[in-house]
Amino acid sequence: MRFASLGSGSKGNATLLETEQSCILIDCGFSIKETERRMTRLGRAPSDLTAILVTHEHSDHIKGVLPLARKYKVPVYCSYGTGEHGQLRLSHHWRHLELGAAIDIGGISVMPVAVPHDAREPCQFVFSYRKKTFGLLTDLGSITPVVREHYQRCDALLLECNHDVTMLANGPYPYSLKQRVGGDWGHLNNQQAASLLEDAEVARLQHVVIAHLSEKNNTPALARMAIEPMLVNSDALLSADQEAGFDWLDIA
Ligand SMILES: [Zn+2]
Ligand SMILES: [Zn+2]
Repeated sequence: MRFASLGSGSKGNATLLETEQSCILIDCGFSIKETERRMTRLGRAPSDLTAILVTHEHSDHIKGVLPLARKYKVPVYCSYGTGEHGQLRLSHHWRHLELGAAIDIGGISVMPVAVPHDAREPCQFVFSYRKKTFGLLTDLGSITPVVREHYQRCDALLLECNHDVTMLANGPYPYSLKQRVGGDWGHLNNQQAASLLEDAEVARLQHVVIAHLSEKNNTPALARMAIEPMLVNSDALLSADQEAGFDWLDIA
């Protein structure tokens, strides 16, 4: 199993996960043209896709989903609430995902985990394939017991480090947006992200990718300073870029 990013941040998110048998796209916050361009960079094309999974209906995650599904005839999996609010549910490409119930997509076990975020029925995903586990966790305002339980035993993790608390407080956002982003239904700050690793099996982690980093309220260096002390192997740490995403990472 291996994974890569087409881009990560408030201007668009999309992650690829693949095995010998299948290739899954998680979210697509880019236009079709942009998605094709970014997939080409990773040696893939939308026609390779087995399925598209959607975490929630915010435009940085959903913008390109339906156009891509229609053009390339790919099934789209998401919760009822995301389907309803993201205008996906009436499409014949839509497949229902029940949060907390794992399903098999192309040989990969996919667990949709409910998260606290200001969307209709948002989730994030834990994927398992041949005893290896990849956790994708962005767009949540706090770490609930359910989240903690599901993300404890990952071999690779893509983890939101959205903002630094001080930078957000002193930054350019209006008060209401600061409250939203920093609230329990907004986005994880660096310290919250680090706290997920407190009781996780960190020795297992081959890759930890800092993701969904705010360009105005955080820096890769600050996020790294928070996460690195939690890890056994600091070489495992890298950060995802809005423009470049990151290249394929193998989970051995
Ligand atoms: Zn987002
Ligand atoms: Zn969101």
